[in-house]
Amino acid sequence: MNVTEQEFTSLFTKIFSMNGLSSLISKDTVGAFYKLTDRMLTENEKYNLTAITDIDKIILNHYADCAMIASKIKKGASIIDVGCGAGFPTLPLAIVRPDVKITAVDSTAKRVNYVTETAEQLSLLNVTSVVARAEDLSRTELRESFDYATARAVAELRVLTELCLPFVKKGGKMLAMKGKNAEFELSGAKRAISMLGGRGAVCEQIKLVGVGQEQTHPLIIIDKAEKTPAAYPRPYAQISKKPL
Ligand code: SAM
Repeated sequence: MNVTEQEFTSLFTKIFSMNGLSSLISKDTVGAFYKLTDRMLTENEKYNLTAITDIDKIILNHYADCAMIASKIKKGASIIDVGCGAGFPTLPLAIVRPDVKITAVDSTAKRVNYVTETAEQLSLLNVTSVVARAEDLSRTELRESFDYATARAVAELRVLTELCLPFVKKGGKMLAMKGKNAEFELSGAKRAISMLGGRGAVCEQIKLVGVGQEQTHPLIIIDKAEKTPAAYPRPYAQISKKPL
């Protein structure tokens, strides 16, 4: 990595503070994010982990972005991160919220291996990683067993809801970190949400402030009000060809 730990700490502190995340800054968290950055950039060629390689952009668009959802999660919660890829939001959340337990799932074995090894190297004992397709895994004992399902940049909302909501307990929530079409996707997903046991979906606009830039990252929050009917999720070909 082309910055020293001291330079990283100063940049990290500045960006997290600008985004109202000062309470998450400590010697331990910054140290863990420094190690994570070093490892991610070192392994990037082998695993194709991130297109973002500038340190300030990694801190803003990966770490602050994922840390913003920490305030939506209750103490001691269980979380499944569907389509974790290179560990987002899994790894930043696990660093800033040692009280929560996260199961990271992805269908790509090499990304899950990277997440497993990274969690070990960073001593993140609150992360478990699984290679699986979400629609298969939610038909195991993990069905309706999590307080939250998170997903960032995985699929269009009707598809994503069928992948995520079956994992969530009644009374829990799905947190979908979406792009600029979020409001439009939400208006088209109302029927799917209701069929899968979800209610009261809202789209919050989360502001991310960087050096000389401001972005809005929509977060869709869906309450799990009823059990998901046994017919869902369907096989992936059906989910994607005929979204609910
Ligand atoms: N969440 C990460 C992030 O924000 O950087 C990764 C996003 S990446 C664009 C989408 C990931 O979702 C890929 O790693 C892909 O393998 C995974 N994925 C897509 N559909 C899936 C499914 N049905 N079950 C498990 N993983 C899935």
